[in-house]
Amino acid sequence: MVMGEAFVFMIIIIVGAYYVIRSYFKEMELAKKEKNFSLSVTHELKTPIASSKLFAETLLQRNDLSVEQQRTSLEKIVQEQNRLNDLVEKILLVASIEEIKSGLNKKPIVLFNLVNQLIKEHDNSHEVINTVDEKLIIQGDDFYIISLIQNLFDNAKKYSPKGSQIKFFSSQSSNAVTLSVSDQGVGIPIEEKSKIFERFYRVEDEDIRTSKGTGLGLFLVNEIVKIHGGKIKCRENNPKGTIFDIQFKTANG
Ligand code: ADP
Repeated sequence: MVMGEAFVFMIIIIVGAYYVIRSYFKEMELAKKEKNFSLSVTHELKTPIASSKLFAETLLQRNDLSVEQQRTSLEKIVQEQNRLNDLVEKILLVASIEEIKSGLNKKPIVLFNLVNQLIKEHDNSHEVINTVDEKLIIQGDDFYIISLIQNLFDNAKKYSPKGSQIKFFSSQSSNAVTLSVSDQGVGIPIEEKSKIFERFYRVEDEDIRTSKGTGLGLFLVNEIVKIHGGKIKCRENNPKGTIFDIQFKTANG
């Protein structure tokens, strides 16, 4: 009888300890993510503000600058303001992601045209190929689908060497179409693949990584895919790099 009670008691203690330890590690992970997020967002917001302020002050204080130098400074200010604008838009988009669900303005989208439009605005840093089937049509809200593809495109450029190839391609089954983006970059370690779509998640710690970012891009991408009833997965490219596959239901699927 006493032995039985002691046994039950032990089990309760072990189960209790298990849950306490598990929630401790969850808290630690959340704290780490939040620390990464505040560090990166603060950095991302402060950098363009500081550098455009510096260029504006230089323009104000120095009257010996040539027209060419003045123009370069003004261009830098516009570039930095654009960067700031992108970041604020991303943060606002994430904040309103719940409202997006009720406000989708779906219409037929020709994926090939949309990808071409983004490639035209591209800065030629990479060789970009679009072999998406011109006949593929999905039902979607073009504002969000553009944002989705733009985020994947930006990442492909950010995480692969200049001049390397980025390819948009597609495949189709009876009720789904898949849009894929491949790059020849650093790739994503297998153990990170399930985490990269989490809000604020960035591979490695903020202190040791050099690329700019907030860890919001793929979270946003995943949310946009979900509200369109689609699926996203990432896999290795051969011989190196990453492929993201986004599966949508077809217009009639
Ligand atoms: P970030 O703002 O850090 O780019 P994302 O949410 O867009 O945030 O991506 C999350 C993480 O996934 C990135 O920090 C990066 O480590 C990894 N990642 C995303 N896309 C790629 C890619 N094409 N190649 C390699 N790593 C990638």
